[in-house]
Parts: sequence; structure tokens; C-alpha cells
Amino acid sequence: MSFESLGLMPELLRAVREQGYEHPTPIQEQAIPIVLEGRDLMGRAQTGTGKTAGFTLPLLQLLAPHASSSASPARHPIRALILTPTRELAMQVEESVRTYGKYIPLRSTTIFGGVNINPQTKALRAGVEIVVATPGRLLDHQGQGNLNFSQLEVLILDEADRMLDMGFIRDIQKILALLPAKRQTLLFSATFTDEIKQLASKFLKTPATVQITPQNTAAELVRQIVHPVDRERKRALLSHLITSRNLEQVLVFTRTKHGANRLSEQLDKDGINSMAIHGNKSQPQRIKALEDFKKGVVRVLVATDIAARGLDIDMLPHVVNFELPQVPEDYIHRIGRTGRAGTEGEALSLVCVDEARLLKDIEKLLRKDLPKNVVAGYAPDPSIPAEPIQTGRGGGGGGGRGMSRGPRTSSSSAPRGASGRHPSRPSTRGK
Ligand code: AMP
Repeated sequence: MSFESLGLMPELLRAVREQGYEHPTPIQEQAIPIVLEGRDLMGRAQTGTGKTAGFTLPLLQLLAPHASSSASPARHPIRALILTPTRELAMQVEESVRTYGKYIPLRSTTIFGGVNINPQTKALRAGVEIVVATPGRLLDHQGQGNLNFSQLEVLILDEADRMLDMGFIRDIQKILALLPAKRQTLLFSATFTDEIKQLASKFLKTPATVQITPQNTAAELVRQIVHPVDRERKRALLSHLITSRNLEQVLVFTRTKHGANRLSEQLDKDGINSMAIHGNKSQPQRIKALEDFKKGVVRVLVATDIAARGLDIDMLPHVVNFELPQVPEDYIHRIGRTGRAGTEGEALSLVCVDEARLLKDIEKLLRKDLPKNVVAGYAPDPSIPAEPIQTGRGGGGGGGRGMSRGPRTSSSSAPRGASGRHPSRPSTRGK
């Protein structure tokens, strides 16, 4: 199968060629023709499957014929809205829009919280056809009268399951109420839970369904290994693995922001250049960390789940679960960072006695046991008892401690992140 046979226009084929893509990925093969037909679509695909190009390419083609007809810069109504759970994902999706849309005269912008609102307002007022936004900040702009969706043709919900996990459901409903009923709607999600199906049945019209099962990606492309180790020796083991195996470009996952910071500092002390990326970091800090990592200046990027969602890093060779995620599906998301688009990757999990149940849950989801490999010199001491896992939030056992200035677990239902505020916050002052 070639991109040409999918019916994409020459401008897009040229951009795709420049990216060096030879063949469409399965999700692209399936989704592109459906979207081009103008149908609603429910796509089950995780990050790493090529889903972004799967919706961005046909979207650009759908919008393209009208693009050059609006002569005046003021005549650029919003024609497509892409909602994402996090600012990183919004940035990366928009980067894809720019990359694939290089030869098509359409304007796009990102809207997300945690940064000054004024440049966004300016961009919206100047006119853009494609808006990539996190829900909260988008509603802030709505409150300020900066948005007009009367010409909207296409709505895309990206990582819809994550948006629900993060508590954005009410914001999403509010946004949907602002959009014309006659539109094309695409929904992408790593899982099709009942909640997602409910959302889809409410807002999508007889959608086509496309599924790329995460199990296949994880099982087939990523070599997964569990290294049993004591809780207190994980850091030493990680440094040992990185230096002894000379690993480069390692993405390491921790459960909490504090954990990410601590680990990053420790790695630096061990002479391993690293950076932490999480919700408490400013936008410029995150961008810098990601760029340095992509360039190879930073050898290890330590991330929480939410911060890592949607990070666009090609062919990442190594992912390390420094701590297993609380939610088994997050394991799949994490290892989806490696073995992307056909390249082999490796996912190492450093697992201590406290995480036995989490590991079982993950193996249940994968429907297979993961190979265990004790690293010489790091065998766990069987006399060490299990301890409750610190998630950094008050949940779990219902303790509620440590929450006041709290690092939250990254895979929880805690609303956060993307727009930098809670969905339930007081609404913005209308101006
Ligand atoms: P995504 O799942 O959208 O996050 O994309 C995962 C990665 O795969 C991105 O870094 C893309 O640049 C890359 N990619 C997307 N489509 C293709 C393709 N057809 N061939 C090779 N790489 C691709």
C-alpha cells in the first residue's frame, strides 16, 4: 500500500515524502479514506501508531480546496478544531499540521493554558483555519469572545480517553455545545471504555470504527524485560544499566513529579546528563528539555505519564519504567514510545517487591508473562517486606496525606495539566 493509493493530493504526498515515510501505517491506511469520505470516525489507536498523520493528512485535504479562496487575512474562519488532553500533545499535533500542511495555505495555532493568553488571542483574532487546543484554555477564550465556530467543519478529539481521565468531560460537553451540529467528528482513543462509547454515541453520527490493538504494537515490536530489584537500589541499577550498556536517548518513567526530579538529580550526580519533564515545569523548560533530548544533548529524559503523553520522539530505542504505573494501560502507553512505526525498541521495567500486583495486572492486560532477568549484583533481598506504594496523592488507601502541595499521580483521574487548571474552576471574567 502506498500513500498515493490513499487518494491524497500532491501537496500532501510531497510533504509526506519529505518526512521520509515510505508506507502508510495500518491506522493511516484505514483512517485516511474514511475521513476523506467525510464520515465520522472512531479510531482506537495509541501514540506511536502514526495516528496523528492518520487524521491530519485527510483533514488538510478536506480543508484545502477552500484555502486559497479567502483572500483577506481577516477571512480565515475556524474550520477545524482538534482537542487534546495536554499542551505537549497540542504542540505536537500542530507541528504535524504544519509539517504535512507545508504546501497548503492554511493557518493553524495552538491554544493551551500555563502561558500568556494574549498572543493566543492575537492569533485567533488574525484568523486561523485550524485550532489545536486543550479544553480549559479554549473555554477561557470562549469566555472572552475570541472564538467563532460558526464555520466549523471538523472536530477531532485526540486521546479522548485521557481527556476523560483528566476530568475534562464537562469542558468537552461545553465546547461541543458551541459547535455547529452539521460537522464531521473524529474521535481517537487508546481504549474504548463504556465512557468513551457513550461520548461517541452522543456526539458522533454513525461512525466508522478503526482499531489498531495496542497489544499487537506492544507485543510485537517492543522487547520487554523486567529487572527485579530492591526499592532502594533502583537508582543504582538504572545508572549501571545506562553506563554499562552505553544506552543513549532513554525515556524513564516515574510515578510522581517529585520522583522525576529526584531521579534526574541523582542521575546527574552519577554523570548521566538528564532532565525531568512534568506538569510543574514551565512551558519553555519543557520545550527545551524535549529539544535537548531529541538532539541527544540530554541522554535521559525522566517523565511522568501525563508529561510524556504525545511526546513526539521518533524511534526511541529505550523506555525504562523506573516505577510501574498504577494503571496497567499506562504501561502500554509508555512502551508505545519505543518500537515506533516499525523499528524495534526495548522496554525495561525495574520492579521491586511493592509492585508485584501492578506487574500482575500488566501481564494480565498483555495476556502474557514478561521475561524476568536479575542483573548480576542487583538481586533483590527476599527478606525486604513490601510497602504500600506512594502515589504522591491522597488516593489509594484513602490516606489523603501529602496532598497539600501535592505531586499527583500521573495516571489518575485528577484533573490537571493541559490547561493548567481544574475543569471546575470559576469561569473567566467575560470581557
Ligand atoms: P503518532 O502515533 O501520531 O504519535 O506518530 C508516531 C511517529 O511515527 C511520529 O513520530 C511520526 O513522525 C511517525 N510516523 C507517522 N507516520 C509514519 C509513516 N507512515 N512511516 C513512518 N513513520 C511514521
